[in-house]
Amino acid sequence: MRLHVVDHPLVSHKLTVLRDRDTDSPTFRRLADELVTLLAYEATRDVRVVPSQIVTPVAAATGVKLTSPKPLVVPILRAGLGMLDGMTRLIPTAEVGFLGMIRDEQTLQASTYATRLPEDLSGRQVFLLDPMLATGGTLSAAMRYVFDRGADDVTAICLLAAPEGVAAVERSFGPEAPVTIVIAGMDERLNELGYIVPGLGDAGDRLYGVV
Ligand code: URA
Repeated sequence: MRLHVVDHPLVSHKLTVLRDRDTDSPTFRRLADELVTLLAYEATRDVRVVPSQIVTPVAAATGVKLTSPKPLVVPILRAGLGMLDGMTRLIPTAEVGFLGMIRDEQTLQASTYATRLPEDLSGRQVFLLDPMLATGGTLSAAMRYVFDRGADDVTAICLLAAPEGVAAVERSFGPEAPVTIVIAGMDERLNELGYIVPGLGDAGDRLYGVV
């Protein structure tokens, strides 16, 4: 398993404003969107490509294009939706699936309530979007879901993570698993309610309001 903490002053700046409790929802949505595009640049470093012959106005040339089947981008509902546009802006030809997962606030266990994904993910590179890697329960369940359908390479893009969550994902899949986690920041810990400290609060509520 690979963990990549994106170390860039623009990422740190945007993350700081995102964390601030006085940042309103429209600004939060815009910053989350911008951050994802920056993280996606790192997260797609190993996206699969094949050689492609083209002709420029001057000469024949060899470049690359994305392999088929195309990468699959999967936002984990609800908060992951706030990351979708930032990701597809970078890979507009990616396919998009949806996975609805909810965390029981008492047990902190994740369960699936909605899916819209191809049955067969054989040979697919999958990019999971979830802003907060807290206990790791939701992300592990989502990874298990796509691996069970044949995905052979999974990258999770998260804005923030707690060390406990990263360790839980590694325990679930082992250090050799084809799993990459890309984050903008690693925080201190989880609190007794399973929130990341210092974190940014409830990402879904901050994106879309309290329901
Ligand atoms: N989910 C959130 O939205 N925030 C946290 O801090 C942890 C889980």
